[in-house]
Amino acid sequence: MRKILVVGAGQAGLQLALGLQSQGYEVTVMSNRTADEIRGGRVMSTQCMFHTALQHERDIGAGFWESQAPRIEGLGVSVAGPDGSRAIDWLGRLSDGYAQSVDQRVKMAGWMETFAQRGGQLVVHGAAVSDLDFFARRYDLVLVAAGKGELVSMFARDAARSPYDAPQRALAVSYVTGLGPRPEHPETEAVRCNLVPGVGELFVMPCLTTSGRCDILFWEGIPGGPLDVFQGVKDPNEHLATTLELMERFTPWEYARATKVELTDAGGTLAGRYAPTVRKPVGRLPGGGAVLGVADVVVANDPITGQGSNSASKCAAAYLSAIVEHGDKPFDEDWMQATFDRYWQTAQHVTTWTNAMLAPPPEHVLNLLGAAGQAQPIADRFADGFNDPADFENWFFAPDKAEAYLAEVTAG
Ligand SMILES: Cc1cc2nc3c(=O)[nH]c(=O)nc-3n(C[C@H](O)[C@H](O)[C@H](O)COP(=O)(O)OP(=O)(O)OC[C@H]3O[C@@H](n4cnc5c(N)ncnc54)[C@H](O)[C@@H]3O)c2cc1C
Repeated sequence: MRKILVVGAGQAGLQLALGLQSQGYEVTVMSNRTADEIRGGRVMSTQCMFHTALQHERDIGAGFWESQAPRIEGLGVSVAGPDGSRAIDWLGRLSDGYAQSVDQRVKMAGWMETFAQRGGQLVVHGAAVSDLDFFARRYDLVLVAAGKGELVSMFARDAARSPYDAPQRALAVSYVTGLGPRPEHPETEAVRCNLVPGVGELFVMPCLTTSGRCDILFWEGIPGGPLDVFQGVKDPNEHLATTLELMERFTPWEYARATKVELTDAGGTLAGRYAPTVRKPVGRLPGGGAVLGVADVVVANDPITGQGSNSASKCAAAYLSAIVEHGDKPFDEDWMQATFDRYWQTAQHVTTWTNAMLAPPPEHVLNLLGAAGQAQPIADRFADGFNDPADFENWFFAPDKAEAYLAEVTAG
C-alpha cells in the first residue's frame, strides 16, 4: 500500500491521516508534541466549526465529541455606537446545522491516540527541512500540515493573493467558566460577534474544553489601538483581568454577564498575531523532492471570521479525495498543484471575505448589518455564510448586489 507522511498533528494533518488510514494507506504522522503535552499545554484557537466542516469529521468517523460539545445554533452581531451603547444587535440562526467548538487540546490529543491505536505510526519529532529531504525519498507523498510554524518558509508567499504583509489584529483569548447567558436569548447557544468600530472585535462562544463546558472570550484588536495591550502579559490572571477591563469599557453588555468568570486552567489564555498569507502549494526540497502544503501552511487567514479550522477540515477532505482518486499514479508536482487548485475553489471565498472583514466596513455593509436587525432573513443569511462563505459573493461584497438583495427582502 502507498506510504504517506503527514508532518503536523493539527486539524488538517490528523483529519487527513485518519481519513487515509481508514482507506488502507500506510500513514506516518510526525508531531512536535506528544498527546499529553498537547492536552496539558496552552489553548491554541477558538476553533468554532460549522456544519460542512463538522460533516467531514463525521464522514471519517472522527466526530467523537459531538454529543458532549455545546450545540451552537446561532450567530449574533452587536455593533457598539460612539456613546458605548449597542447601535445594532441581532441573532441569526444557522439553518444548515449547528456549529461546535471542541478545544484543540482535547481533539488533537484524542485523534493522535486514536490514530496510534488504529495502527498508525506516530513519530514525535519537530521536523526540519533536512528531515523532509530524507523522508521525501522514502514516502510516496509528504504532506506538510505544520500550521504557521517555521516549515512555511519552504513555501513561497503568493503576493497576488496576500494583500496584507503585516498582522491586522492582535489576538487575546481567555477560556472561562461562570459566564452568564445573554439575557436577550438565554435559551440559544450562539457565537456573539461584538464589533467596536475603529478598535476591534470581541467574540464570545461556548466550547468543550479539557474540564467540560466553558466559554471563550476572544478580543481581536487593531494593532496599536486600545486592545493591543496583551503582548507583555505573562500571568494568565492578569490576561483575564485585562480582557474584562476592556469588555467593561467597550462592550458593557457582554461584561454584565462576565463579572463572575474564572479561567478554566493555567493554560487557558493565548495572545499573538500573524499576517494573513497565501502561499504557493508546492515546497521544493534542497535534494530536489517536492512536498505539498496543507491548510494553514498554504492559506492562513486572520481568525476574525473563525474559518481556519473549517478550512483545514475542507482542505483535508479535498486532499483525501484527490489522493484516493489518483490511485497508483505518481504524486508529482502537477498533481500537487491541481490538488491545491481544487481546494482553492473553496478557500478563495474565505480569503476574500476574511480580508474584507479586516478593513473598515463600507457603507453598504453597514446598511446590511443594520437591516438584519429588522429582517430576520438577512441575519440568518449572514450566519449561514460562516458555513458557506461562497454565498457572500452573491449579496455582501458589491454595493449593487447588496442593494438588490435588500430590495428583494423588503419586497418579500
Ligand atoms: C486565536 C485564534 C482563534 C481562532 N479561532 C478559530 C475559530 O473559531 N474557527 C476556526 O475555524 N478557526 C479558528 N482559528 C484558526 C484555526 O485554529 C487554524 O486555522 C487551524 O488550527 C489550522 O489547522 P492546521 O492543521 O493547518 O494547523 P495547526 O492547527 O496549527 O496544526 C499544526 C500542527 O503542526 C505542529 N507542528 C508545527 N511545526 C512542526 C514541525 N516542524 N514538525 C512537527 N510538527 C509541527 C504544531 O505543533 C501543530 O500541532 C483560530 C486561530 C487563532 C490563533
